[in-house]
Amino acid sequence: MKEIAADMAERPERGKVASYIPELAKIDPKKFGIVVIDDEGNVASGGDSEAPFSIQSISKVFTLTLALGKIGDKLWQRVGREPSGSAFNSIVQLEYEKGKPRNPFINAGAIAVTDVIVSGHQPRESLGEILHFVRFLAEDNSIKIDDEVAASEQRTGFRNSALANYMKSFGVLENPVHFTLGVYFHHCAIAMSCKQLAMAGRFLATNGINPSTDMSVVTPERAKRINSIMMMCGHYDGSGEFAYRVGLPGKSGVGGGILAIAPGKASIAVWSPGLDENGNSYLGRIALEQLTRRMGWSVFGV
Ligand code: GLN
Repeated sequence: MKEIAADMAERPERGKVASYIPELAKIDPKKFGIVVIDDEGNVASGGDSEAPFSIQSISKVFTLTLALGKIGDKLWQRVGREPSGSAFNSIVQLEYEKGKPRNPFINAGAIAVTDVIVSGHQPRESLGEILHFVRFLAEDNSIKIDDEVAASEQRTGFRNSALANYMKSFGVLENPVHFTLGVYFHHCAIAMSCKQLAMAGRFLATNGINPSTDMSVVTPERAKRINSIMMMCGHYDGSGEFAYRVGLPGKSGVGGGILAIAPGKASIAVWSPGLDENGNSYLGRIALEQLTRRMGWSVFGV
């Protein structure tokens, strides 16, 4: 990890930090962190591995897990599970598909998933449930929501409002649009370090079991399915390229983080704020490609 971090520190080409959420535009593009936690709990890290960053869309892995826990396979009546091949905030696809988002990781799909968690609760309770779940997985009660990032996104989230209102018109959302969006913006604004994120991802690398307690978080089958969706949809219209280069299930966020899972082997978190043209971490992907190549850790065995 130290060698990968040293290599990444020297790269001049780092992508562009997200600017459409003003608060994220302030982040130093030179930051880089990586943490690997293997199935025995050994931790290896490099770079800014303890610095918190905005997990953004990586939170969608945790909300998907919660929503599946709540309503099971009924979720698939509201959201699809096919790769989208379009941008994470595309509106045109939603119109073609009559308000049913293509998968749980594009913004529209994640907003529909959040709506499932909100149903039957006050927004504050739902947000508490999400944060509690993430803290439980990471075994770290210090994990917080960055209120400034949430407010920044709430102020400028016109596109997400459009997606949510559009779905509401088809009856895909059950709750008031501003309730669901408020919870969505806030769970995207959870701040975590690579270390905390890799901890939170462990259950996906160990057949759904929390390795510290041996308790089941999800069934092995559900862990498999969440990993499959990460593999096919976790990087939006860059999912094919990520699978081609890295060969692991992964979920990116516009904060520059990626959670990647080497099933049976390790949970991996990497952070580099500069993004490529699809909104995925530019150096994060390169670092993961190096890691899987050197460890022979892709799901395809090399
Ligand atoms: N909160 C961001 C948004 O809704 C999440 C997008 C992302 O990380 N790709 O635009």
